[in-house]
Amino acid sequence: MQKEKLYGKTLNELVAVTKRLGMPGFAAKQIADWLYKKEIRSVEEMTNLSKRMRELLGQEYEIGLSEPVSSAESTDGTKKYLYKVLNNKYIETAYIPETDRATICVSSQAGCKMGCVFCMTGKQGFQGNLTSNEILNQFRSLPEFRNLTNMVYMGMGEPLDNINEVLKSLEILTSEWGYGWSPTRITVSTIGLLSTIKEFLERSRCHLAVSLHSPFDEERRKLMPIQRTNSVKDVLDVIRNFDFNSQRRVSFEYILFKDMNDTPRHVKELARILNGIKCRINLIRFHPVPGSLFRSPGVDAVNDFKEALNDKGILTTVRASRGVDIQAACGLLSTLELNKT
Ligand code: SF4
Repeated sequence: MQKEKLYGKTLNELVAVTKRLGMPGFAAKQIADWLYKKEIRSVEEMTNLSKRMRELLGQEYEIGLSEPVSSAESTDGTKKYLYKVLNNKYIETAYIPETDRATICVSSQAGCKMGCVFCMTGKQGFQGNLTSNEILNQFRSLPEFRNLTNMVYMGMGEPLDNINEVLKSLEILTSEWGYGWSPTRITVSTIGLLSTIKEFLERSRCHLAVSLHSPFDEERRKLMPIQRTNSVKDVLDVIRNFDFNSQRRVSFEYILFKDMNDTPRHVKELARILNGIKCRINLIRFHPVPGSLFRSPGVDAVNDFKEALNDKGILTTVRASRGVDIQAACGLLSTLELNKT
């Protein structure tokens, strides 16, 4: 019999498990402590539970952690890990060390339904939603787990298309009975799903990053099919009407493609549509992926675009390219692995 995984369960879910097994009320909190505050790998190690309780639990449940199956390291220190999920599918996780922080970039789905034309993960198609166990296992089983200071949901998949499991993982990361991380250390990135963005804003206190890539309806529709049904204007209205506290940040991700979305016209329109939203823009210089028709702008063009946005009063930064030599662009490594199998 396949055992159910305990790791990735919320406190309420653990309460349901312990009740069903006839364990005392305080056992759920004890199990959460073992799962999220200590580094055990088996039920037998939960030594403050009686032997009988451990036996009962162990008959049906396991911890459910799994190591990455392979990794690649860039000359700049970025590492990319592949984890196996959902019976022979692969997901990618990136570890990005910097001088003052160490960030993990996790996947929320295997593949993706959204079909953004510049994205390798989009080209794979959708293979499945990750469970909260599979999302958090990327974090807990990362060899650099103890160094981590920040987490971004910017790997494979659209997090808000897997809202329940993503919210569960955020609850475990930020609850006092879980990892106790401040929500300000976590950013969830979305292309802007109207059906779930409000739920995310209301049920979590983590930062939000929206992938924008063009302020023009027609152009964005060509890059990101989601624009046909979830216009960025409507997404911005939701953000504009939400009461963000001073700690919580909204940012916009903007991949710059040469001679496409990097003109003064784009700067002007970005300033217009973002008017009234306290935010920042992160510019990302596009790096060509196999088969891509897009080109990468020069470093000077990226800086000029940044300065022009800053002059319009929008705080804009350029995200340093990391791990280019290990194909760190989301979806590349797992595509290679899928092609092998
Ligand atoms: S960019 Fe994000 S939402 Fe778009 S296809 Fe890639 S993984 Fe999916």
